[in-house]
Amino acid sequence: MTPEEFRQAGYAVVDWIADYWATLDQRPVTSQDPPGAVAAGLPAGPPAQGEPVEAMLADLDTLIAPRLTHWQHPGFFGYFPANTSGPSVLGDLVSSGLGVQGMLWASGPACTELETVMLDWLAEALDLPARFRSAGAGGGVIQDSASSATLVATLVALHRASGGRWRGVGVDRRYRVYTSTEGHSSIEKAIRIAGLGADGVRLIEVDPVTRAMSPAALRAAIEADRAAGVVPVMVVATVGTTSTTAVDPLPQIGPICAEHGVFLHVDAAYAGAAAVCPELRFGHAGLAYADSYCFDPHKWLLTGFDCDAFWVADAGELVEALTVLPEFLRNAATESGAVIDYRDWQVPLGRRFRALKLWFVLRWYGVEGLREHIRRGVALAARFADRVRADDRFELVAPHPYALVCFRLRGPDGPNEQLLAAVNGSGRVYLTHTRVAGRHTLRLAVGAPQTTEAHVDEVWELISRAAPVGPPG
Ligand SMILES: *Cc1c(COP(=O)(O)O)cnc(C)c1O
Repeated sequence: MTPEEFRQAGYAVVDWIADYWATLDQRPVTSQDPPGAVAAGLPAGPPAQGEPVEAMLADLDTLIAPRLTHWQHPGFFGYFPANTSGPSVLGDLVSSGLGVQGMLWASGPACTELETVMLDWLAEALDLPARFRSAGAGGGVIQDSASSATLVATLVALHRASGGRWRGVGVDRRYRVYTSTEGHSSIEKAIRIAGLGADGVRLIEVDPVTRAMSPAALRAAIEADRAAGVVPVMVVATVGTTSTTAVDPLPQIGPICAEHGVFLHVDAAYAGAAAVCPELRFGHAGLAYADSYCFDPHKWLLTGFDCDAFWVADAGELVEALTVLPEFLRNAATESGAVIDYRDWQVPLGRRFRALKLWFVLRWYGVEGLREHIRRGVALAARFADRVRADDRFELVAPHPYALVCFRLRGPDGPNEQLLAAVNGSGRVYLTHTRVAGRHTLRLAVGAPQTTEAHVDEVWELISRAAPVGPPG
């Protein structure tokens, strides 16, 4: 493809995306086709001769788009949002076009330096503690996901707890990581990958109402483990748990970690974005105790997947834990010690120029524009929660400090499962579920950029009409 051919095809692709966004509201949110429908529509092998881009766009229309779950759809309320936006797509397009591999400062100086500055900009936008800024010992990096951030934090914590002698499974089995029973599944996965095995994680009980980690239970677990010869390595506290957006109390958890020399990682994958708004920073109280912190701009901050922002207070310790320097990567800039080589801040060697999409997003919206987006989501969720609260058939299952509302029909699980299926079957909206204290619970997460009051009112209408008429029993 010549640059001129690319220009023409590129215009057509951008048009296609713009049309897709403009027609989202008219599409069913989810595909109703059975598994295998997409594969059955594809040729068995690749074409022998090249095809024009028009052919691919036609297949996008007929084969792919109708069989998607449309995450940008204004009726998408499932999981947590995975925002994208025009500026994010354009920044990503530039990254793809440049094709830079930013493993070292020397392999793309602007790739590294823009990323460092973007993470400082984000830290300022969220008012993160000074210890995470690159001006001091700390700094930030883009990971592909919060899962990777947790894995990296685990490796640093093991490095620290073992006095820099962590050699992995079979050598040391006495290490343990703590998170609440509501901690994300990626924590257990990180601990498995790090070689700590099934006993490597200890789940701490939560407050039955707030669903936040109990500091007293954490302290008791750490003290009991220490008495038994187990080394407490890391606590993963969550700001905005995946199930219900519970906020673990960092002001109490932090001092416990400090007292016992335990690494504190804070996972704010979803809710961290809310901290662009000063009035939504309550979850970050006590964050200055944290050794590392991450949140996903790719969830609620208008930045397309993948983009997890991860900060550490001690970048030197992080690099020590992860660096392996083969001869073929040696270079003068690295040896000077004056540059960051982000390969040492992550699991893979290679990395894309992801800072570009953040740069485009931050400049297009400005911090005020991002605040508007977050506040709109919070207000829409509150509007929905008011409807739930006003209807005796329903109960709110947990507080809704951000833009997720957890609710259910009072009574047994069965009618709740049927309600979810009926509402999703409309094709107009998509919600997912969780279990809270063992009970089937519906989750409504607001966050798609196109969602308005009318969409929230529509989803409540659908729910209200599909629900049994009277209160149970
Ligand atoms: C979504 C989520 C994750 C995982 O996010 P990825 O970026 O997809 O790995 C981790 N922790 C919490 C609290 C989450 O909500």
